[in-house]
Amino acid sequence: MTHTPTPTPASARLGGLAEAADLGRTPVDVTAVLDHLAAEADTTAPTCIGFPGAVDLDHREVMARLGHRLWNNIGDPTDTTGTPHTRILEQAVITWLADTLHMPTHDRWGYVTTGGTEGNLSALHTAHRRLPTARIYYSTAAHYSIPKIVEMLGARGVLVDAGRDGEMDYDHLATQVHRHRRWPAIVVATAGTTMTEAVDDTTHIHTILDHHQVPGRHVHVDAALSGIPLALDGRLRLDDDSRIASITVSGHKFLGVPTPCGVVLIRNSLRRDSTQVTYTATLDSTVTGSRCGLAAALLWHAIATHGREGHRWRVSQARHLAAYTVDQLTTAGWPAWRHPHAFTVVLPTPPTAVRAKWLLATDTDVSHLICMPGITHGQIDAFVTDLTDATGPGAGHPHRLGPIPRPRSAPTGRGRQ
Ligand SMILES: *Cc1c(COP(=O)(O)O)cnc(C)c1O
Repeated sequence: MTHTPTPTPASARLGGLAEAADLGRTPVDVTAVLDHLAAEADTTAPTCIGFPGAVDLDHREVMARLGHRLWNNIGDPTDTTGTPHTRILEQAVITWLADTLHMPTHDRWGYVTTGGTEGNLSALHTAHRRLPTARIYYSTAAHYSIPKIVEMLGARGVLVDAGRDGEMDYDHLATQVHRHRRWPAIVVATAGTTMTEAVDDTTHIHTILDHHQVPGRHVHVDAALSGIPLALDGRLRLDDDSRIASITVSGHKFLGVPTPCGVVLIRNSLRRDSTQVTYTATLDSTVTGSRCGLAAALLWHAIATHGREGHRWRVSQARHLAAYTVDQLTTAGWPAWRHPHAFTVVLPTPPTAVRAKWLLATDTDVSHLICMPGITHGQIDAFVTDLTDATGPGAGHPHRLGPIPRPRSAPTGRGRQ
């Protein structure tokens, strides 16, 4: 029987993907679908300035050489038995990051995760196993994964206010810790909040916990966005003095890895024993069993090809562009601001016409754009021009909108109590 291919559905050829969703139809014009996806991504990339993925690094060498095989670093990252896959590279990434953060060499453990959320889960699970009665404190500006994880662990969360700039309100933390001082405290500090890139002060957090003499603590830093930049500055350290127990960073943000991934680091002495799994011959110490070895290779490559100095340069370029953006917007009469260390520029939400073209992140009347490495002056200039064209002198002028409100509250779950 000869098989006569039916013509490519017009909608797939012309750009619609509706037909592609129906795999019951054969044959599917696979090439047309893939071409369409790639073309669409190419079209939106220049106006996509609201999301925190760096776009300056070239990962094609790894994708070309390794991308067609399975690399599965199943089980514990320190396991040296079994198939090697990319464990060596994963270990190198863990060591590089832990060294950059000045984590003590004798007391560190970590692995390459699927992203910031898994890192937070792994760290908070570890903390909760050791301190099962602890209250988990997190601010209203914390990432939405935190209340979800608190619920998954069956733990008790305590919500703490954040200031308008996104940083934790330490007075409110003190009030909440005082109220729950009989229980151990797990505190989630954020280094780079989603909306404003605010950084919580872990020294201040420890002072509050000391003052109330909580019976046991674990301070975790969710540094998905800003962990690597702040570590390269020396502003974020996990040395003994810091008393930080664990940290999460993301791999597809500052390092722009083309698959979601991240790294979690935990002080090894705070971990409890994991179960030995007979048939994989490894320790079950990670959240997922099978783990993406390609992500480890991509992270390793991004680090190896630039080194600390190269990445420091990327950080400073991005910050310069963010400062330039604030200047340009302010000059144009649009009152933008940023934290001094941040790539994120916060601004009153532009009119719909501007947002239809430029992909910002918007939370009611506040929006942000992020000058991640790879974003250019040309993109910023074009955005500012569109904004001035759309608003004109006096039209919808943001000064009339009043003050920039505080960041959106995270879902509360079993929050305030
Ligand atoms: C991006 C981000 C996360 C979540 O990371 P995923 O990789 O999406 O799971 C968590 N916390 C913060 C502060 C983030 O910026």
